Amino acid sequence: MENKLKIHNTLSRKKELFEPINSPYIGMYVCGPTVYGDAHLGHARPAITFDLIFRYLTHLGYKVRYVRNITDVGHLEADADEGEDKIAKKARLENLEPMEVVQYFSDRYHKNMDQLNVKNPSIEPRASGHIIEQIEMVKKILEAGYAYESNGSVYFDVKKYNKKNNYGILSGRKIEDMIANTRELEGQSEKKNPYDFALWKKAQPEHIMRWPSPWSDGFPGWHMECSAMSTKYLGEHFDIHGGGLDLLFPHHESEIAQSVAANKMQPVKYWLHNNMITLNGQKMGKSLGNAVSLDEFFTGKNDLLEQAYSPITIRFFILQAHYRSTIDFSNEALQSAEKGLKKLFTAIKSLDKLIASEKSTSNIKALREKCYDAMNDDFNSPILIANLFEGVRIINSIKDKKETISAEDLEILKKLFNDFVFDILGLKTEETTGKQNELVDGLLSTILSIRQEAKSNKDYATADIIRNELGKLNIQIKDTKEGASWEIGD
Ligand code: ZN
Repeated sequence: MENKLKIHNTLSRKKELFEPINSPYIGMYVCGPTVYGDAHLGHARPAITFDLIFRYLTHLGYKVRYVRNITDVGHLEADADEGEDKIAKKARLENLEPMEVVQYFSDRYHKNMDQLNVKNPSIEPRASGHIIEQIEMVKKILEAGYAYESNGSVYFDVKKYNKKNNYGILSGRKIEDMIANTRELEGQSEKKNPYDFALWKKAQPEHIMRWPSPWSDGFPGWHMECSAMSTKYLGEHFDIHGGGLDLLFPHHESEIAQSVAANKMQPVKYWLHNNMITLNGQKMGKSLGNAVSLDEFFTGKNDLLEQAYSPITIRFFILQAHYRSTIDFSNEALQSAEKGLKKLFTAIKSLDKLIASEKSTSNIKALREKCYDAMNDDFNSPILIANLFEGVRIINSIKDKKETISAEDLEILKKLFNDFVFDILGLKTEETTGKQNELVDGLLSTILSIRQEAKSNKDYATADIIRNELGKLNIQIKDTKEGASWEIGD
């Protein structure tokens, strides 16, 4: 296939023709979640963005090795070099082993990704499983002279690195601005300069996640894992590195500096960043108290939500925007996505029943071309979707006998919808839609109030029958002081 794919490279700040280093093999690394809480809309966006890219590259015939990590150590609060480890803190508050926290939230993250029809990456490495590789890389950076040891910790020497290299090559930031924007926090006196970042941190006595190293018992700095693991699985120079725009600085900027210092070359040919999701125009985040978890979207159990939204509605909603644009979440926008999705699937059902005629009244080959053009233009999913809706219009016109289609074009149209809707956009029909969830909620609350009524009449036999019958459907009733509630068992 002729290569027409253009992608916007954050590194060069422009769209470039995509030329893999060793075609047809492609290495792609994406920063995954730090697993200390439930996944929310902000987690869904990078997962879906790079799933779309993974799917499209695969569709074009490339062999993609897609690595998406799980951060389970070293990500400190406020994304800085000070404060408690996010996972260790959760473990302390819940009285769990840190790895219990990691397992629990990784499992939930994977469940959510399955629901969103996000494909598993080829490799999903964990930071804690690559401590040796990280220590080796810190050694190389020290040997190259771009890091220094201080009180058992090792810091990257940004100022020294910046003399021969450019710390700011990706984000466009300048050291002078960084000084102005860095708050001097307690403990940072270990550093030569406030913008130096930790490669290895000596663990405080109360810190539970710790490993031996030549410098101290401690743990790797947050940026180290991605440099070490991407090098291990994709080599010192690979094709694509992705992540959310919030990771551009300092995380990705520091990854570049670490790799250049250790391996003497730019690690990544194309850097891709998805933009953020806002909620009614405001930034969304756990600390801002407006983060809605994916489970809450799927069940509708959050005061910000007017109803439940199915995982595929959420996926479609995200794909309706280009990955480099911001998306503003609102009930209105999600409801319109839900309607659009329904229209799309209704048309796909009709497509199966269409009967071919002598000739076509619409240019189906041109429509196919436009779908590829959209995806080849930096994965422009909203334009692709607009073209698919042109297809929906054609299907409905043929169904209403206002237009006709030839046998050859009908096959092309069927393949086009199959390829783009299911394989590339990763949409799928669902047994349970948001509306059906609402219905289930309503039915169960009726059943539970009947059971409550039976109990108050001391009719325990009826109450037990209801409990047992629901149990057979894997629906568990929990009696509390406030009344009964239900949940679907695992
Ligand atoms: Zn990363």
